[in-house]
Parts: sequence; C-alpha cells; structure tokens
Amino acid sequence: MNNQRQAGQLYIVATPIGNLGDISMRATEILQQVERILAEDTRHSKHLLQHLGIQKPMWSCHEHNEEQRIQYVLSALAAGESLALISDAGTPLISDPGYRLVMAVAEQGYQVVPIPGPSALIAALSIAGLPTDRFTFEGFLPAKSSARVKRLQDLAEETRTLVFYESSHRIRASLDDIQQVIGPDREMVVMRELTKRHEQVFRGSVQRVVEQVAADPNHQKGEFVLVIRGADASAGALQISSTILLQGLLDELSASKAASLAAKLTGLPRKQMYEQALKLSGK
Ligand code: SAM
Repeated sequence: MNNQRQAGQLYIVATPIGNLGDISMRATEILQQVERILAEDTRHSKHLLQHLGIQKPMWSCHEHNEEQRIQYVLSALAAGESLALISDAGTPLISDPGYRLVMAVAEQGYQVVPIPGPSALIAALSIAGLPTDRFTFEGFLPAKSSARVKRLQDLAEETRTLVFYESSHRIRASLDDIQQVIGPDREMVVMRELTKRHEQVFRGSVQRVVEQVAADPNHQKGEFVLVIRGADASAGALQISSTILLQGLLDELSASKAASLAAKLTGLPRKQMYEQALKLSGK
C-alpha cells in the first residue's frame, strides 16, 4: 500500500450472468462513478448500462487487445481517472479477460478494487449439493476430443469436487467423454441457463445426466456449468478408471488383448472395453 500513488483506481466489477436484477447496488454506484468503463464487448455491455441508465466512455478490453490496452489504462490511472473492468457476464477474469491487465496495474502500484457479485461457478456450486469445502475449477475442457480425454484422465482420480464451464456446441461431446473417462456411476449436476427464464438443473449419475441432457430438446442452446463429485478417496490407489487401465494396457498389448484383460480386471463387459480400446487407440 505504501507504494501506491494518489491516482485513479481500477475496479473489477461483477455483472449479472443472465438476470439483470442481480447487479449489486455497489456495482451500479461504481459504474456511475468511474470516468471510463473497460468492457469485453462494448456493444454487449451497452445493454446492461442502458438498463442502469448509465452513459460512459467505453474501451474494449478483450483477449486480443488486452496487452495493448494496458498502456492506455496506466496512463489514465496516472492522470487520476478511475476505471471499471466488466466482462460480458459474471466476474471478470473468471474464464474471462483481465488477468494481464490486473497484474500490470497492481505491479505499477495502483489500487485494484474488487466489486464482487455473480459468477456462474459460485452459483452452480451453491445449488449442486456436492461437497464445496474443497473444489477445483477447471474452466472449459479442451475443444479437441483427444486433448479433452487426456485432461479428464488427469482429473479422474481427483478427490475434490470438479467444476467445468461448457458451451452448447460441445456439451454433448464433453458429456460423452466424461462418461467414458470418469465412468457412468459418478454423481454429477449439470446446470443450464442459471438465473435465466429457462434455468434447468439435471442431477444424478453421469449416465443418467447424459441421458437427460440428450433427451432435452433445448440442450443445443444456452450456457452450462458441470459439477462432478470427486473420486472416492477411501478406495485409494486401488481405484482406477477403465480408461486409464486400458490406456496403460494398450501401450503393451493389441486392442483385443487389452480389452480382454481390462474386462477381467474391472468386471466390465468385454465388448464395452473393446469399443473403448478402439476409440483410445484412434481406430
Ligand atoms: N466470467 C463468467 C463467470 O463469472 O461465470 C464466466 C464467463 S465464461 C466466458 C462463459 C461460461 O460461463 C459459459 O460458457 C458457461 O459455461 C458459464 N456461464 C455463464 N453464464 C451462465 C449461466 N447463466 N448459466 C450457466 N452457465 C453460465
């Protein structure tokens, strides 16, 4: 603090994830007070600002121009201007731009002030009914199936509750990979369009949730949060997902032999193991 100049401040302001009524009083006041608003998409944010009756000069600040924006922001702060960073929805920096900006502003000794509020991550955890004492937020899974499967394999034995963001384009593919790697029986909650008119919550085993989402005519639309119960710690080192087992066996054996052995070791049907082995070996 002692290094901080008497200058402008950068406010990181959370905005609604759907329901405009979720904007806080303090967020509204700060957006009214600041000289300038940095928005991920200025056109998108104009809608919120119009709703709040606020008209302010805006700068865009997104993934592709964040680095260039830093100098403008530092100059504005030096000139005594205060600025607010908002994203399209929820809390900036949470799977949204702003990390490099905050780092640069803090490094220069300016004050960065949080104005907390909505985030899909916290809203989802608050209603998932799964342990929240320890969780890991994994953001979006990779877009490519091979990378996604690899990431899920790395997380298969994680005992903390797992939280993922997902878009409507990839929800089916991601759920299929989760079923294959994490298995059909783990408890899971999928939430769609939180705080919006068509909010939906799907609860049950991975298999049950995959079936429910697939059967839902609206699953190609909207935004999703996936919360999965962590692996059972008491099963310890003996618990291993069929995918990880097969992956290891495939390094040494043909798909057919690996499938037979995996079926024997796990008690799962050989046919299922064989299909999984072919998928894992890219056939
Ligand atoms: N910064 C945001 C936050 O604090 O939640 C997240 C931004 S990230 C680019 C967008 C993703 O967040 C969506 O693809 C979805 O996974 C999740 N998300 C945002 N709003 C949501 C909502 N109303 N319901 C469910 N998921 C939502």
